[in-house]
Amino acid sequence: MLNWRLALMPQYVRDYVMIHELAHLTHFNHSPAFWRHVECFHPERRTAQNWLREHGAGILALG
Ligand SMILES: [Zn+2]
Repeated sequence: MLNWRLALMPQYVRDYVMIHELAHLTHFNHSPAFWRHVECFHPERRTAQNWLREHGAGILALG
């Protein structure tokens, strides 16, 4: 997951991407339980998702 795109992101967005990926080790989908898990570690996940959408990097948040 570490690539040049991550290097261009604000730290909180990078954290969100990493936490998102790690949460998939426990949840293999985007269920409500998955998002609770993500928000547990990253309460600002919606702000991070908005940043990704605005900057056209949304694809990173969909894996
Ligand atoms: Zn995902």
